[in-house]
Amino acid sequence: MVVKVAINGYGTIGKRVARAAALQPDMVVVGVVKNRPNWEALSAYRLGFPLYVPEDRVEAFEKAGMRVEGTLEELLQKVDVVVDATPGGVGAKYKSLYERAGVKAVFQGGENSSVAEVSFNALANYDAAVGKRFVRVVSCNTTGLIRLIVAMRELGRVRSVRAVLVRRGADTKEVKKGPIEGLILKPAKPPSHHAEDVKTVIGDIDVLTYAVVAPTTLAHMHLVRFELEEPVTREDVIRALETTPRIMLVKASLLSSTAELREAFRDSGRPLGDIYENAVWEDSVWVSGGEVWVAQAVHQEAIVVPENIDAIRAVMGVSDKESSIKITNETLGIRGWFA
Ligand code: NAD
Repeated sequence: MVVKVAINGYGTIGKRVARAAALQPDMVVVGVVKNRPNWEALSAYRLGFPLYVPEDRVEAFEKAGMRVEGTLEELLQKVDVVVDATPGGVGAKYKSLYERAGVKAVFQGGENSSVAEVSFNALANYDAAVGKRFVRVVSCNTTGLIRLIVAMRELGRVRSVRAVLVRRGADTKEVKKGPIEGLILKPAKPPSHHAEDVKTVIGDIDVLTYAVVAPTTLAHMHLVRFELEEPVTREDVIRALETTPRIMLVKASLLSSTAELREAFRDSGRPLGDIYENAVWEDSVWVSGGEVWVAQAVHQEAIVVPENIDAIRAVMGVSDKESSIKITNETLGIRGWFA
């Protein structure tokens, strides 16, 4: 079966999911929805994605030189599933429309978890989303944490997770967001919302997170401490990380900063220089008994892209977990570089 996919909201996440879905042998992107005829709409149009727009904006798009195929309502009649990548909180407003159109929907981490039946991460709970109508792919920071937790659980029971998340202040295109100087402890009182968000996917975990917003657009950096029930060796931890899909070990001697990491992936020829993997610094892995420390970078714009692709297969019930992760990884070249 070829799954017919719509993308509502073609911004940072939507544009990447559209490109990734177009690469899948079992998916076709029937159309993308834009509200304004801006530069992102133009790039979607130039890449050949059919454009769907609100009825009262058709003229504006056509004046701007973009052919319009129809409205969101018309697009929903042609597809099996919609990936909602509208800004946080907006997706929930579309839910009843998706319901009426009889399509499945994959929401993003900016929505409240109550928008969906399941909050999703492919490694942690693919099976829980199989056949569901509404699924939410958790945010970039949460995805990064969950993949690490899945890796550590390979080593035995995880008693607790404590993490400091140094968050990028904005995405590269967000000229009106900051900070452009200073670090903000946000919220000052822990936990940051990421701990609760992890629990929407992995319920039975003791997790505490602090978040610091930093003046950078490149990536987040996480410093994470695990307390495992049984003592482990550094080699055990490295092996668990190496064998967990979508985790990539990098050496600080080669790439010591988020700046070099991002540039290396631009050099790699990956679309938009995206890094879909958790980039864990091998040098940072520190172990003493059951205590494990790990530092990783998370490319916020890209890490949820493979998860969205797997979420589409899960809701459609067209693939099991292992096959979906394998196809997604192969088509996106995941762990093909610097691993
Ligand atoms: P974005 O602002 O880059 O893109 C949103 C898109 O939706 C834009 O094309 C915008 O024109 C369009 N849009 C705005 N209002 C709309 C409306 N009422 N109806 C239809 N379309 C509308 O946002 P983003 O960063 O791609 O975020 C999308 C979702 O993904 C949010 O839930 C966010 O929390 C989540 N997310 C973002 C990141 C990130 O780093 N940017 C990472 C993970 C998850």
